[in-house]
Amino acid sequence: MPRRNWAGNVRYSARQFHRPTSTDELRRLVAGSDRIRAVGTGHSFNRLGDTGGDLVTLAGLPPVIDVDPERGQVTVAGALRYGDVARHLHAQGYALPNLASLPHISVAGAVATATHGSGQTHGNLATSVAGLEVVTADGDLLRVDRDTDGDLFAGMVVGLGALGLVTQVTLDLVPTFEVRQYVRLGLPREALDDALGSAYSVSVFTDWRAPELREVWRKQRADQPPPPADWLGTTATDEPRHPVLGMPAQNCSPQLGEPGPWHERLPHFKLGFTPSSGEELQSEYHLPRAAAADALAALDEVAHLIAPVLLVCELRTVAADELWLSPNHRRDSLAIHFTWTDDAAAVLPVVAAVEERLAPYAPRPHWGKVFVTDPAVLAARYPRYADFAALLTRLDPTGTFRTDLLDHYFPR
Ligand SMILES: Cc1cc2nc3c(=O)[nH]c(=O)nc-3n(C[C@H](O)[C@H](O)[C@H](O)COP(=O)(O)OP(=O)(O)OC[C@H]3O[C@@H](n4cnc5c(N)ncnc54)[C@H](O)[C@@H]3O)c2cc1C
Repeated sequence: MPRRNWAGNVRYSARQFHRPTSTDELRRLVAGSDRIRAVGTGHSFNRLGDTGGDLVTLAGLPPVIDVDPERGQVTVAGALRYGDVARHLHAQGYALPNLASLPHISVAGAVATATHGSGQTHGNLATSVAGLEVVTADGDLLRVDRDTDGDLFAGMVVGLGALGLVTQVTLDLVPTFEVRQYVRLGLPREALDDALGSAYSVSVFTDWRAPELREVWRKQRADQPPPPADWLGTTATDEPRHPVLGMPAQNCSPQLGEPGPWHERLPHFKLGFTPSSGEELQSEYHLPRAAAADALAALDEVAHLIAPVLLVCELRTVAADELWLSPNHRRDSLAIHFTWTDDAAAVLPVVAAVEERLAPYAPRPHWGKVFVTDPAVLAARYPRYADFAALLTRLDPTGTFRTDLLDHYFPR
């Protein structure tokens, strides 16, 4: 079990590392520990999940993938990677509505931080959750379902790993489908909204070195016609690309309009290859989609600070939802993502400058990435923040799942 996160910027400070092989063994471990957290695949960039107590991976639990055709749902072991789940589902004729840019992340770890892909009609990955099985602080097994547990369910899904250890997740399914991916270069700023709304899942990449947006990754259903030659003032490419200039395109999902299954096109990166750059930090902010043009104009003022420490910036859309700690709670969102260089000392002041410029648009940071927002400011951006704090106290009165970063944002 690795002692650091994927990016290498967090060395886990746990006193002991565990890999139970059954839910009962996990329950005994939790019941006997005063401080414990789960780690998924370690793709987060902050210390939200870093405990000084016990750190446990659930990857040793049975790799359940149990499709229920009647309900159109699948129940999976929380530690499974989306990419592995997706292959099974596709083989049986099913799909998940959306995926993140990488298939390497665990289902439970991704849902805990409201990880998302893109698409104006798609919620983040947590919105596909229909049920959770959780080991609570006293070692009990709790099942919560969307249909029967209403508000408690909406509070628990984006749980930051702080309400219990998620052993199984039930997800909504759709019939499998094919996608074609086209990359187009040079999008004028004023065409951003049209581009983002033009297909099933659209990402726009830029580098803050020019007013124009560098490229559009348009993932469209295979039966939708290809973008015309003069689409929104962009030009076509005749070779595959990587979002980070200079990185190998072979790491990326197929482009040039070649049709293929949803799970091999919706992520930007292939399962067997390194996603993104590897030597990087990431930050991301969700703000109301209607504020997109104003927010980008506000960032223009700090473009000279952003560009020198940036590998790439990505703009995506996420539909509104009702989950308490979802950054998309009751807001159709534009997500502005920054892949930074791995120089934290140079990056952190720029993160602060970005947050200051975006403040008028009440940005909600990605829970699994680097952010410096003041806790009181963050609390004011979530209508159900206080309810989540109360749920934390109710489900975990002695602070078994607490971490320093969680205490910072949800003081006891
Ligand atoms: C290259 C790269 C690309 C990325 N692309 C995207 C993207 O497209 N969209 C996006 O939104 N994010 C993206 N991310 C961020 C990433 O999806 C999130 O940080 C996600 O939470 C990582 O999942 P994980 O399994 O690695 O979780 P971890 O980082 O291991 O854990 C995250 C949190 O979940 C908790 N947790 C993990 N497993 C469990 C469990 N079984 N029960 C309870 N709590 C648990 C942990 O304690 C921790 O607090 C990217 C990250 C990288 C490195």
